[in-house]
Amino acid sequence: MQAYQDGLTGINNRRGAIGSLESYLQNESNANNAIALLMIDIDKFKQINDTHGHLIGDKCLIVLADCISKVVRDKLDIVARYGGEEFLIVLTDIKREHVAPIAEKIRASVEQIEVVTEEGKPVPLKVIIGWQHEPLSASTNTEALIKSADQALYVGKNNGRNQVVESQP
Ligand code: GH3
Ligand code: MG
Ligand code: MG
Repeated sequence: MQAYQDGLTGINNRRGAIGSLESYLQNESNANNAIALLMIDIDKFKQINDTHGHLIGDKCLIVLADCISKVVRDKLDIVARYGGEEFLIVLTDIKREHVAPIAEKIRASVEQIEVVTEEGKPVPLKVIIGWQHEPLSASTNTEALIKSADQALYVGKNNGRNQVVESQP
């Protein structure tokens, strides 16, 4: 169990997310569904650690994991800490037009998070979300999907951050 779970936040780790996604893709009853992958990266997280300390950084990660878990559907969607300050969400059986509003809701919810330091200083949290929608087919490839969401994320970083970006073909 621990092998698939992130020790800090309690959500899936990368291996847990990929395992759940691959099981979903292999399940024949999902063959006609579409999914969306959202890659989320905290803006300037290193600066948060450097300014407020690692414990506050950890707290931000815990609260953010909780925040995004509340926006998505329990059991249907997959939420994971993909790496240090990056999170992956898989929305299952979802129409393309529904993805951007959900991603925007996540972005806005994160902005509302109120982590405060012991001295009472607020620690603003902002994220970039890159996403890719994909109607499933026999050639659907986990790695390619993640790469597309990741590329959209980098477009966001170059465009001014705190935003939601759909991947371009
Ligand atoms: P950008 O806005 O371009 O994404 O920059 P960034 O600072 O968010 O990203 P960068 O990759 O430069 O730094 C990520 C930081 O995340 C560095 C690392 O110390 C921190 N980090 C990774 N894992 C943890 C963790 O478990 N706890 C804490 N507190 N910090 C962590
Ligand atoms: Mg990063
Ligand atoms: Mg970052």
